[in-house]
Amino acid sequence: MEATNAIVLRNCFNEVIKNYLNDFISKEIRPDIAKLERYLIDNNCELPNCEVKKLSNMLAIGQSNLVDIIIRTMSHFNSLPVDRQYSLMKMLQDFYFSSVLAEESLDHYIDVTMSADGFNFNGKFFYRDTFRHEKIKNMKYFLPYIEDKFINEECCICSKEFVQSSFIYEMVCRHAFHFKCLDMWLENNGSCPYCRKDIVSKKAKDSNYFIEDKEDGSKLVLIYILTKPYQYELNDNI
Ligand SMILES: [Zn+2]
Ligand SMILES: [Zn+2]
Repeated sequence: MEATNAIVLRNCFNEVIKNYLNDFISKEIRPDIAKLERYLIDNNCELPNCEVKKLSNMLAIGQSNLVDIIIRTMSHFNSLPVDRQYSLMKMLQDFYFSSVLAEESLDHYIDVTMSADGFNFNGKFFYRDTFRHEKIKNMKYFLPYIEDKFINEECCICSKEFVQSSFIYEMVCRHAFHFKCLDMWLENNGSCPYCRKDIVSKKAKDSNYFIEDKEDGSKLVLIYILTKPYQYELNDNI
């Protein structure tokens, strides 16, 4: 019976931890989006509000798979000359990496009341994130390709030349790649495919919980979560 309870509890806490993190990430990203929007407006970006919002969301969430779709719906942005698109994207992401992300990653702490399969608990979450800060050292820009702005003219993963004004990644080592090619590469590798500079792009999560029996018969659950840069195995890079 004890063992069954332990499994039920573990599944339940895993679910609670997952929900907490999803909720936390969406909350954490909101101030980032607001700062990007403010920056665009303060710098007379020539874009209507709806496009300011779309661009800020896209960069803060960092979903490269949606860039083409989102950019296609931005008619004002699309009507800008490509060098203006480039400078706008570059300026905005310089600000994002140097100012928005530069704020220290913090320890977070909240009290919660939880229900787990008929049991009620008072809980405490302790959450530390060391991944957010890593992104500063591992900048990946979304930029439209213009021949003289990049140091390589083709993606060394698929050997295809970049298409003028199509969006690609430029990494901190300045090497450029197609979104899909680099995302697939970084699933299994922790370095630039061109120069082998270390690149941290995956997040790992550790979590644990402890149940304390209180004197009044109630239980207190302590939940510890750490999100950190994923460590590739040594042979991942071979
Ligand atoms: Zn490619
Ligand atoms: Zn490189």
